Amino acid sequence: MLSALRGFVFDLDGCVWTGNVLSPGARDVLARFDRAGRRLAFITNNSRETGARIRARLARLGVTAGVAFLTPLEIIGEAIRERYGASRVLVLGSTELADVIRAAKHEIVGVGEYGRATVVVVGNDFDLTYERLTAAVRAAARGAALVTPNLDPRLPIEGGEFFPGCGAIVTAVQVASGTTPVVIGKPESPLFTIALRRLALEPHDVAMVGDSVPSDIEGGRRVGMRTVLYAPHGADDKGPADTVVRSFAELAELAGV
Ligand SMILES: [Mg+2]
Repeated sequence: MLSALRGFVFDLDGCVWTGNVLSPGARDVLARFDRAGRRLAFITNNSRETGARIRARLARLGVTAGVAFLTPLEIIGEAIRERYGASRVLVLGSTELADVIRAAKHEIVGVGEYGRATVVVVGNDFDLTYERLTAAVRAAARGAALVTPNLDPRLPIEGGEFFPGCGAIVTAVQVASGTTPVVIGKPESPLFTIALRRLALEPHDVAMVGDSVPSDIEGGRRVGMRTVLYAPHGADDKGPADTVVRSFAELAELAGV
């Protein structure tokens, strides 16, 4: 099945790398895929880094193949445009988040003018205040669409500690406004469909390879891609994955590269 596919989309954390360390065999196998003419893309739920930074990190680790490097931050402006057209956006989140939305030709609306917002974007906001939360909640309650990179409850940091994640703030806005967020990251479709478009391939010609059943396997299936669960320690539950591999070497063998 995998040997006939023309494209492969890889998850990053827990699949291609963990932290800044590539999985065993990943660099060599990805280069072999590339030499064999398979088109490659990388997608991650990381909402703090742009695709360009992900691409640079991969290059530093010796991975130079790939036509698309997508994070929610990378596509959120495009996804808002696809759903709602050019929008007036109230942003709860980092300046990087506001920058990418502005770069996608949306108008950024200030906290004091929340009534003009047609979309509220909530990312992880290290400068969160009650005033900012109030503006976001009121805008959403008035009918602005609520959009978020992901619903992760925690942002893990060094030493086993964590910050509250994007999902914690989104939930506050959701509860107080009585609205439901649109999620840009996996398992929702935008990262997958934009990756497919950049690959210029149909879903049935492409496999999604990742270590998470709920985000990679479910998300890939939803758009019609073949799915490969990367489970280096074996899979307790392969879910609906078409194939399970324990290593990049096994993946290469099945794909015939
Ligand atoms: Mg992963």
